Amino acid sequence: MKGKLEQIKKEFQKEIEAVKSLADLEILDNKYLGRKSGALTSAMKELKSLAKEEIPKMGQLANEVKIFLTGEFEKTKKKLKSQDQISGSFDPTLPGTEQPIGHLHLVSQAIREISSIFEHIGFQRARYPEVEWDYYAFEALNMPISHPARDEWETFFIDQKPINKKLGQRILTPHTSSGQVREMEKGILPIRMMNISKTYRRQIDASHSPMFHQFEGLVIDKDINITHLKGTIEYFVKRFFGENREIRLRPHHFQFTEPSFEVDISCGVCEGRGCKLCKEGWLELAGAGLVHPNVLKAGKIDPNKYSGFAFGWGVERSYLMKSGLNIDDIRLLYKNDLRVINQF
Ligand SMILES: [Zn+2]
Repeated sequence: MKGKLEQIKKEFQKEIEAVKSLADLEILDNKYLGRKSGALTSAMKELKSLAKEEIPKMGQLANEVKIFLTGEFEKTKKKLKSQDQISGSFDPTLPGTEQPIGHLHLVSQAIREISSIFEHIGFQRARYPEVEWDYYAFEALNMPISHPARDEWETFFIDQKPINKKLGQRILTPHTSSGQVREMEKGILPIRMMNISKTYRRQIDASHSPMFHQFEGLVIDKDINITHLKGTIEYFVKRFFGENREIRLRPHHFQFTEPSFEVDISCGVCEGRGCKLCKEGWLELAGAGLVHPNVLKAGKIDPNKYSGFAFGWGVERSYLMKSGLNIDDIRLLYKNDLRVINQF
């Protein structure tokens, strides 16, 4: 047996040195290690018929031969492969494989554009926690704990005991307005803040995603009035949607602004004449108003000395309105389907 194994090894060494191609190598591999009739495989099968005390010793030897053969095969395979590349199947003058280049998601594009428009008139971008306290999302915004206005926000609550009575329950912030009092608490006046953030509400259907983005402007200074609010929104609308778009303010009610307005913009499809999309020439865009004195007080600002305005609306919604897109299902924006995303 020992002689047989040594013979196999010797013959193999001679043959592998002569191999010139990967195809020949494969034939050789089969000849020695083939599962059915490979020379080494067959020899190993014969081990069983040896005398008992011979088996371990011969088994070990057979294994060593096998490891040697396998190693030689791998080495030769590598060598032949690299020779193949040098000798012609690789052409260095051919152009390389072009890698697909990605681009920013449309929501990121919209956020950058919105930030840059407001930067031009002195707004500074701020970020506030997405996991927020009840206090900043509701209480400080003039919505005490049992106030029915809270029902408008389908809030996610975090299953955690409140750490103190003032801050209350932990929640996922349902709107960017929760940044208002946090900004005021910094104690730096005047304020020109732009808060763009993810917001969360317990709603899922074609026009609602449980996570979406809002942007919120807050201005606080001496003698701020409605004309400043109107001028700021008008400036944004003309830069973002186009010079020909008009706005109008409709009286509304929000707890944290007084007076409050809904902002409409003239329809881009029919230019205000009225069409299927807008019905009467206007599209509802956002909420806005002058900051309620109670909110200023919560932020430790004296409402007799200072006044301010705030506005906020959805990033996704604004972007869809801008491009004149009518996406049937807003959740498409988050599905990472390249057929959708690559169109923007
Ligand atoms: Zn229209």
